[in-house]
Amino acid sequence: MPLPLQPERSVVTVCAYCGVGCGLEAQTRAGRIVRMLPWKEGKSNHGHSCVKGRFAYDYYHAPDRVRTPLIRDSIDQPWREASWDEAIAFTAQGLRGVQQRHGVRSIGAVSSSRCTNEEIYLTQKLARAVFGNNNIDNCARICHSPTQFGLSATIGAGAASQHFDSILQADVILVVGANPTEGHPVFGSLLKRRVRQGATLLVIDPRRTETVSSPHCQATVHLALRPGTNVLVLNSVAHVIVTEGLYREAFVRERCEWPEFERWQALVSDPRYAPEVAGPEAGLDPEAIRTLARRYAAGPNSAIYYGLGVTEHSQGSTGVMCLGNLALACGMLGREGVGVNPLRGQGNVQGGSCLGSWPHVYSGYRFVSDPEVRASFEAGWGVALDPEPGLRLPNMFDAAVGGDFRGMFIMGEDPVQSDPNQNHVIAAMRNMEFVVLQDLYRNETSKYAHVLLPGSSALEKDGTFTNAERRVSRVRQVVPPLAGLQDWEVVVRLMNAMGYATQYRDAGEVLLELASLTPAYSGLSFELLERVGSAQWPVDAKAPEGTEVLHLERFPRANGLGTFMLTGYVPTTERSSERYPLLLTTGRILTQYNAGTQTRRSANSQWHPEDVLEISAADAIARGIRDGEQVQVSSRFGSTQLKAVYSQRVNPGVVYTTFHHAESRVNALTSDRSDWATNCPEYKVTAVEVLRVAAPAGVSAASTQASEVLA
Ligand code: SF4
Repeated sequence: MPLPLQPERSVVTVCAYCGVGCGLEAQTRAGRIVRMLPWKEGKSNHGHSCVKGRFAYDYYHAPDRVRTPLIRDSIDQPWREASWDEAIAFTAQGLRGVQQRHGVRSIGAVSSSRCTNEEIYLTQKLARAVFGNNNIDNCARICHSPTQFGLSATIGAGAASQHFDSILQADVILVVGANPTEGHPVFGSLLKRRVRQGATLLVIDPRRTETVSSPHCQATVHLALRPGTNVLVLNSVAHVIVTEGLYREAFVRERCEWPEFERWQALVSDPRYAPEVAGPEAGLDPEAIRTLARRYAAGPNSAIYYGLGVTEHSQGSTGVMCLGNLALACGMLGREGVGVNPLRGQGNVQGGSCLGSWPHVYSGYRFVSDPEVRASFEAGWGVALDPEPGLRLPNMFDAAVGGDFRGMFIMGEDPVQSDPNQNHVIAAMRNMEFVVLQDLYRNETSKYAHVLLPGSSALEKDGTFTNAERRVSRVRQVVPPLAGLQDWEVVVRLMNAMGYATQYRDAGEVLLELASLTPAYSGLSFELLERVGSAQWPVDAKAPEGTEVLHLERFPRANGLGTFMLTGYVPTTERSSERYPLLLTTGRILTQYNAGTQTRRSANSQWHPEDVLEISAADAIARGIRDGEQVQVSSRFGSTQLKAVYSQRVNPGVVYTTFHHAESRVNALTSDRSDWATNCPEYKVTAVEVLRVAAPAGVSAASTQASEVLA
């Protein structure tokens, strides 16, 4: 007789949270998960995991899971339970009805980085082959879309150049706008291990994060720049490298476009980027910029890791290009221990990017406007395809407010909570005639939906995820889907109900189809992954078991050379002012994950029951704010209330919060400014004022006695 917690079965799968993509062994008993253990064979985690992967799995059987399809004719009506057949027919009629009334391009779809590669592929196929347009986007739009654009422009591939273990060969580690010890903990531990072994750690981040300073890991240089000045500071670093002759000319001449290097060299040599000029503008000591530049250029192996602190800016793509430029100039690509590596937030955000969930490219980042590429998909899918790029997610919302875009299929996303300028998103939702949401729970977006289809969690389905190091791993079904269908099966049913006849035996057959149409995934199959465990793309005839390090001999550009992009600094128009004198920036903590949808339905909630506002004691005292007091945070776009906590991690003039709780309404504050190239929102810079909730209107903090606060 087994003991109560003794497992009857175990299944190896992938963590559903961050982009590290840890292999986990799920142990079950009587159809329920009793334990989640880090998998020793996992190539991205080697038997380690963090508190999210290990403990935050209870969400899958939370009492408020959506267990049956719900439908209604208008959003002011109560929900009505429906069978799968009725709900799918209702959905198909609703979406087709919008198209009949308003045109083929009046609807679109959004996919999620929490879904599998197979589901993401099928969702973009739904938009293209069944809706008949390219109105498809995904949540990478609001996080790492600048990575795709900026790295493709410089080094030809919008993905990590290395595998995680490559950091163990790095002599210098430059972390920009990321906090891996909280956001990507297992990789963060590897980074700390390398620093303890003697590598130099350089960090550029407005906040003194745990990565900057903890008992076992200290950065040699920390540039606590003013939010919004990334490009200025990175150009200043480049200025030092160029003007002090620290670049590797032999590498640039052999592997890069030399005339573009000369143009870039001229740009960053401009005196405005000299540390003595740029440093004070960014709130930095010029000598610290010089030290960081010299250490990075000296290597011999220097590796860059970066996160949303680079991408979520009005110059997000420019910031990514700055990093590509630096690595090329210093010859830090094409071997172990170097490279440029985006730390992807969600478990499958790399897959979401690779598999065509963009309005302008098919899977493998190939343009919908390219007749040859389009013909290959038309042959594969058996339909004529729209050659015009579709709408990006923010443009869908704009068009909805304007009345041209009237229906949406949203898979596993909560844009009302997650996207910037919440009031605008709500106006867009209200204006649409037919919104379909497929999700695990009711959420902020479901308030505006006409159909709510039960989603299946990563624990309930088969497929693959692609992690931040391009590693494709098997997601295996641990427990049956609570509502009976995996997400990919629902999409296939919807395709058929909308008149596109198609069937797949299982998720493995979907992978084979996407592999046949996606060169970098062409060698992938469930069989291969059973045999080798996981594989980093490209997986193809040349590399049948995958590719750990990219750019060994050439860059994937037409001439094989890397190039330098001009990265002039254009300050964001979101600036502090007399009325909004502080700059708000955001981030994550270890125990929670993104909007908290899953982690808040687990015991991890005990560790982070609410989001708080970190504020320097100087700014707090000047406003009469006590430590732990509730405050009103207001921006030009909205306001919310948070608990203020004195913090030495932020400089005066900067405040910081996490965004794991919907009640915090942090996105009520954020602007609709976005990256010039990709529309990635400028989440990381919002001018705000913070006042005591109790303070009478119009009484500024300066008038409140500091002595009262300190009493
Ligand atoms: Fe690994 Fe990230 Fe999951 Fe933690 S959240 S277990 S680091 S994949």
